[in-house]
Amino acid sequence: MSYIIQFLFGAVIGSFLNVCIFRIPNQQSIAHPPSRCPNCLNPIAFYDNIPLVSFILLRARCRSCSNPISFRYFVVELLMGVMAVALYYHFGFGLNFVVQFIFVSGLVVISFIDLDVRIVPDVISLPGIVLGLALSLVAYFMARDTTELPSPLSSLIGILAGGGFLLATAWIYEKVTGVEGMGGGDIKLLAMIGAFLGWPAIPITLFVASLVGSVVGIACMLLTGAGRRLALPFAPFLCSGAVIFIFFGQDLVRFYLPST
Ligand SMILES: [Zn+2]
Repeated sequence: MSYIIQFLFGAVIGSFLNVCIFRIPNQQSIAHPPSRCPNCLNPIAFYDNIPLVSFILLRARCRSCSNPISFRYFVVELLMGVMAVALYYHFGFGLNFVVQFIFVSGLVVISFIDLDVRIVPDVISLPGIVLGLALSLVAYFMARDTTELPSPLSSLIGILAGGGFLLATAWIYEKVTGVEGMGGGDIKLLAMIGAFLGWPAIPITLFVASLVGSVVGIACMLLTGAGRRLALPFAPFLCSGAVIFIFFGQDLVRFYLPST
């Protein structure tokens, strides 16, 4: 029963994240006006705004103007439902669950905005860096025995390592090739990942992101015939790496580095 509630909770939050994904790059308020069709601007009735269900019942079309609704709405709601269940299964309910759910919500918004418009929004990543560090302090002082969050020191080193490593790589890449490689947005995103997950997450996230990115990149080149200049958004791969770390990396870290 509780898994069903978690799934529904995740899907409802996913519905809100869809609003953020659409409005943040357009610099619109995420609170006003209420949900409306991006094409005809007609408000969406509450019975047409039920996560997952409405998308299927409406057959992915606006009730007013019949314009297609992006499949992204369904994907994000389903993804957040699944993430809520997975985090609840892994952590049980408590501070760890709440913090990781907030973190994953931020990662989902960043990934889909990057896929959509090739921007990693500073309005998520910069407050995310501060929030990750602040939450590690909260966990350290209020729930030291039960927390799976990084220590404040590990979080701080994570910010510096995440930001610093990519900054150095980007600088060297630019000096050597004369081409701007890694975007500044990716650097702030990795600093945010370091803030929430601690410094041991940085090498593992980078490793997974490069591995998955290479496989997907090669697959895209083969399928589309695009050349080596094919530029994929990197944020979704960094975010996938961070999610893998939440579920599998922390056990590794507990085993190898018990004091972090
Ligand atoms: Zn419409």
